[in-house]
Formats: sequence, C-alpha cells, structure tokens
Amino acid sequence: MKIDAHAKINLGLDVIRRRDDGYHEVRMIMQTVGLHDELLIDRTDEPGIHITVNKDDLPVNGDNLIYRAGKLMMDEYGLTGGITVELTKNIPVAAGLAGGSTDAAAVLRAVNTLWDLGLSQDELKRLGVRIGADVPYCIMGGTVMAEGIGEKLTKLEACPKWRVLLAKPPVGVSTAHVYGSLNLESVTHPDIDKIAEGVTKGDLHTVVRYMGNVLESVTEAEVPQIGYIKSIIKESGYPLMSGSGPTVFGLFESDEAVNRAYEDIKKTGYAADLIITQTYDPNEQVD
Ligand code: ATP
Repeated sequence: MKIDAHAKINLGLDVIRRRDDGYHEVRMIMQTVGLHDELLIDRTDEPGIHITVNKDDLPVNGDNLIYRAGKLMMDEYGLTGGITVELTKNIPVAAGLAGGSTDAAAVLRAVNTLWDLGLSQDELKRLGVRIGADVPYCIMGGTVMAEGIGEKLTKLEACPKWRVLLAKPPVGVSTAHVYGSLNLESVTHPDIDKIAEGVTKGDLHTVVRYMGNVLESVTEAEVPQIGYIKSIIKESGYPLMSGSGPTVFGLFESDEAVNRAYEDIKKTGYAADLIITQTYDPNEQVD
C-alpha cells in the first residue's frame, strides 16, 4: 500500500490554559498542505515492524511514531504477522509541521485496510490520540478547528488553494519545551473564530489579518532566524510560525510574490529547508 502522509500548518494557534495533568488546552485552525511523506506499507507473515527511512537522523526503532502506531494496532486487535514500512521523508523533522504524527496516522489507516478491520475514522482517531495530540487531526486532514488538547475536531469549509512557502531554520525545537516555556499571562491571544470565519469564506485577507500563534514569541526568542524570515516574507506575503516551530510559513497572492520570497530567503541561508507548496484538500484528490 502506498500512502501520502501530508504535513499541516496552523493558521491559528491559541493556548487557553494549562490543565492539571500538564497538557495544554488549545484552539487551533489546522490546514493540510501539499507537502507529504511517502510510505510504502506491506503486510508480512513474520511478526515485527520493520522500518527503512531515506534519512540517517531518524530512528527506525520503537522511537519512531510509525513503530508506535503499528505496535498499537497489533496489540489492540491481536493481529498476527507484521509490517514493513519504507518511508520517504520529505517533511522537515521537529519543525512544527506534524511530520511524525502524519506518518503515524498513515500507518493506522494502512493497518486498518491491510487487515480488513473495518474501523471507522472516529475509532482510528481515538487510537491516534494515544500516540500524540496531532494524530487524530492527521487521520482526518483538511481545514479543521482543533480544540481540547487537539483531539476535538470540527471540520470547516475547505479553503481555496492558497500558495504557501515553508521556511525552516537550521534547528529543530521540542514541542514540550516550547509549551513548557510559555507564560500565559503575557501573551496576546489570536482571534481563532475570526480566522475560522475567514477560512470558511475563503477570504485570504480576513485570515491573514487575524492569523496568530501564541507560541511564536517563545520560539522566536530562541531562534532569531524566525524573525528574519518573517520580515522577508512580509515584503510580498503574510508570515506566521507553524505549531511550536521553528518553521515559518507564508501565504501569498501570486506566484511572483511566493517566488520572490523564496529567492530572497534562499540568499540569506536563514532556512535549511525551503519549500513552495499549497493548501490541500484531501477530500478533493484521488490518490
Ligand atoms: P508537531 O507539529 O506535531 O509538534 P513536529 O513537526 O514539530 O511535530 P516531528 O517532525 O513529528 O515534529 O518530530 C518530532 C520528533 O519525533 C523528532 O525528534 C523525531 O526524531 C521523532 N520522530 C519519531 N518518528 C518520527 C517520524 N516518523 N517522522 C518524524 N519524526 C519522528
């Protein structure tokens, strides 16, 4: 089975409060983009989960979210046999683009199909949240309002195809560290409902006017390239950091504008990964 596992950006990210169990209650507008990993997944008679990756810096053992997703399905449903997963990693790692979560979501879906388990999307989402808060969203994809710890999902009208530039500074950040450093007393909360309204209307101007991420200042204090990249994007488009960062994305109104930002950022070396993509509606495409 071949599955494309797509990255996401956050058009809005607000943290409402810190729960007693340490998790943060959030309100986010999630959007799938065209950039994706490719997974070739096969069922094997031999037990075990065997992963190969096209990059050296990713674990292929129990630390890989692919492994955790496969193991969860095997244990939960008492499956015999195993899987081989050949991962082509295109999504920058530890970048705020849900690269690991989307791979895990792809494995849950694949095992459901390969073993003919007949699990509904809701059942897969309930399993997914045990791996990570972004996994239920990755199972669903598209334009979505995420609440709770990220697992309460409301589908929004798919937004039009907008041009997106992704620029990841040459460092990774830990999501737990960024949330841990957040001081909720001193942040400006973005208006998530206005962003949702803009997305639903397909109105780029409303979206970029209200777009905001409460974690941006936390990560930017540690990764100065975020600010530099944002100023370049501002010359021809609209920037925001995605998730806990450090990837900055830009939305643009023309190919010329996105190409200009791409070339200008490329010259500076502020970004280790620089990718032009677009917003993506998984329901519109036939794989
Ligand atoms: P999020 O936006 O959900 O916070 P992220 O894009 O910031 O996610 P990931 O790319 O998912 O972060 O990587 C976070 C960590 O997870 C990395 O340290 C990486 O080694 C580990 N990891 C485990 N499995 C994977 C995988 N399949 N793909 C990417 N990273 C993985």
